[in-house]
Amino acid sequence: MAAHPGTDANPLRVAIIGSGPSGFYAAEQLQKQEDRSIQLDMFERLPTPFGLVRGGVAPDHPKIKSVTRVYDRIAAHPDFRFFGNVTFGADITHDDLTRHYHQIIYATGAQTDRRLGIPGEDLPGSHAATEFVAWYNGHPDYRDLTFDLSQERAAVVGNGNVAMDVARILAKTYEELRETDIADYALEALRHSQVRAIYVLGRRGPAQAAFTNPELKELGDLADADVIVAPDEVELDPLSREWLMTTADRNAERNVQTLMRYASSGDRDKSRRIYLRFLVSPTQIFGRDHVEALRIVKNELYRRDDGTLRPRQTGAFETLPVGLVFRSIGYQAVPLPGVPFDHFADVIPNERGRVIDLDRREPIPGEYAVGWIKRGPTGIIGTNKPDAQETVQVMLEDQDAGRMLQPENPERGAMERLLAVRKPDYVTYKDWQTLDEIEVRRGQEAGRPRVKFTRVEEILNALAAYRGRAQGQDGH
Ligand code: NAP
Repeated sequence: MAAHPGTDANPLRVAIIGSGPSGFYAAEQLQKQEDRSIQLDMFERLPTPFGLVRGGVAPDHPKIKSVTRVYDRIAAHPDFRFFGNVTFGADITHDDLTRHYHQIIYATGAQTDRRLGIPGEDLPGSHAATEFVAWYNGHPDYRDLTFDLSQERAAVVGNGNVAMDVARILAKTYEELRETDIADYALEALRHSQVRAIYVLGRRGPAQAAFTNPELKELGDLADADVIVAPDEVELDPLSREWLMTTADRNAERNVQTLMRYASSGDRDKSRRIYLRFLVSPTQIFGRDHVEALRIVKNELYRRDDGTLRPRQTGAFETLPVGLVFRSIGYQAVPLPGVPFDHFADVIPNERGRVIDLDRREPIPGEYAVGWIKRGPTGIIGTNKPDAQETVQVMLEDQDAGRMLQPENPERGAMERLLAVRKPDYVTYKDWQTLDEIEVRRGQEAGRPRVKFTRVEEILNALAAYRGRAQGQDGH
């Protein structure tokens, strides 16, 4: 019997679909296996890598984005290749991958948003926060969206970190935003924004907010926005008080303290206001041909059988006159062509990362999931490290047991040859590094950290021009 792949003569070939944190951490874990020869090919639909680190992390959080230095190191490994601008399911299919790889990792994250399911949700002026985030981060698929920033009042529904990001970006001044790598068109649009009041709506209380404390505190440091919390809404109900006394949730404790501080502050001298509201749920968005108001209902908390505190409507309604609504109630994964999907849990069905065939209820040999498509849209970037470790652990077990795909052509050059026909303008990691340099240079010229490319054609043209110049210099 032939030896299992993983030797220098017969390397194990692994495809990773998606280039966000979970894909890179899976690559890193595989690279750590020094006793095996593993060749990694990462495929990415966009011509640029890093998923939400580029398209989701707030532009004013450069420290979080600096994690890409780790990804650069991973990509520098001689057995790692990046194929950007290649869409799984269109340019390459599931069948193509099974012909060329022993193992496939799906690391595609959660690309869409959850809906509120209330009347008026589709009125112009009502948006998914995830789309607004992708827009201001220069994601090519969202860069042409428009947001009516002539409105003076906006609501952000949800109490997670994305809601914090959206509220903060809406509340920042032009000078604050200019220092970031926010997309240039978004900077210009936000410069003229008339939004003065931003209502962040949590359906549960201050102790149950999902945002993390540094993000909450950051709101208090804005140059021209006050944070306003009504003292009666931050006062804890008996159930929350009891829960907070018994829990070891330091983040919740800190959040409650910070919110109490906001509630006792009388600062009202800045031109924008962020109102943090609690125990309210939207029930309807009103407006004739644009959002004009949001109806909310007051909630109370009750203890469910599993011990968690859940919101329940009280019947007391209020109408907020807002012209914009951003629903920020979580991301949602989308199914991949040819790959099982659990429409109830919105993930690829898996056991510790092994993709499960839903009919046979057993693992599909050689197919794995990591990150949000595996566990749902929770956690911070670092959460993907142990998650990737778990997936790679089962991949190694399967390698040892010989439970893998049986590719008919695992030769390394085969994928490049296939792409030369299917997608000749695919982007390599070296190309990305060139783009990165050009973006940073454009930033320096504008006195900003970076000016992003936001259109695929623009990227491909910039690369073609760079290659043309490089060839000219070589005398070709
Ligand atoms: P999230 O943390 O899951 O928060 C979702 C929020 O929406 C929760 O407050 C949830 O309330 C609320 N919600 C859900 N359904 C609702 C409904 N029908 N009506 C009203 N409210 C509803 O999601 P996220 O903000 O999209 O963030 C996703 C992940 O990325 C999180 O893990 C987050 O920490 C991370 N992230 C981190 C950063 C950072 O580190 N700076 C920045 C952005 C995102 P309940 O709790 O009551 O369900």
